[in-house]
Amino acid sequence: MSIHKTEALVLKTLPFRSSSLIVTFFTPQLGKVRGVVKGVHREGEIRQAGFELFTHAEYIFYEKKRSDLHLISEASILESHHALRDRLEGIAYASYFCELVDELTEVQDPHPRIFDLLKDSFHFLPVIPPPRLETVFVTQLLREMGWLPFLESCLECGAKPLEKGFFSIRHGALICHRCRAQDTAALSLGSGALSVLRSYGRNSLADCLRQFQSSQIENQVKTLITAFLNYRLGKVLKTRKFLDSIRSVLSCANS
Ligand SMILES: [Zn+2]
Repeated sequence: MSIHKTEALVLKTLPFRSSSLIVTFFTPQLGKVRGVVKGVHREGEIRQAGFELFTHAEYIFYEKKRSDLHLISEASILESHHALRDRLEGIAYASYFCELVDELTEVQDPHPRIFDLLKDSFHFLPVIPPPRLETVFVTQLLREMGWLPFLESCLECGAKPLEKGFFSIRHGALICHRCRAQDTAALSLGSGALSVLRSYGRNSLADCLRQFQSSQIENQVKTLITAFLNYRLGKVLKTRKFLDSIRSVLSCANS
């Protein structure tokens, strides 16, 4: 067994036997890691705190060679992110971000930029309107997975520059009005939404969140990117359904 010491963010926890926990966390250099923490419920709140959802901590774990379920021994908290767990909205969005990362990545497949994206998103979540953060997060997660929609020219005829057109969810690409017949289900993409989508795919999370756009454009971008994500996933995630189910409660609380 080799020993690893790494910072990570907790994506998911699951009770295991009477006092243990299976924890999935995301590290910068090793990607997603799963492990068992033994006896965690016997050892008090301080020890348990290191394995709470969304916690950013430094972990020591023993890598098992014949299993992808390793043995986690210690956690030293760097940031507890309790502000995310204190509010329903924080829990709902942070859980959705975590489930997306868990769903899209394989165990021990390094994606340091996804680690940074998730860590930065946890910082922005209490201070930026979460639906806005979600759109940028999803676009940039797709970028890191190599799934960013192709928006530079028409996929069918190569026409460019295109300032507006149609977004083919099936192809994850822009098509021009002349090629629309190739995918009649393609959604109209106006110049404002197209330029925002391009910008979200190119710039840093912080730069994207500083941009201002109308709520109409923001909603259009969100609809397109969510539809594309769900198409690529082939399903709607549990945390997404939860988020949708509490949307009316959240909008009343925010108004
Ligand atoms: Zn075309």
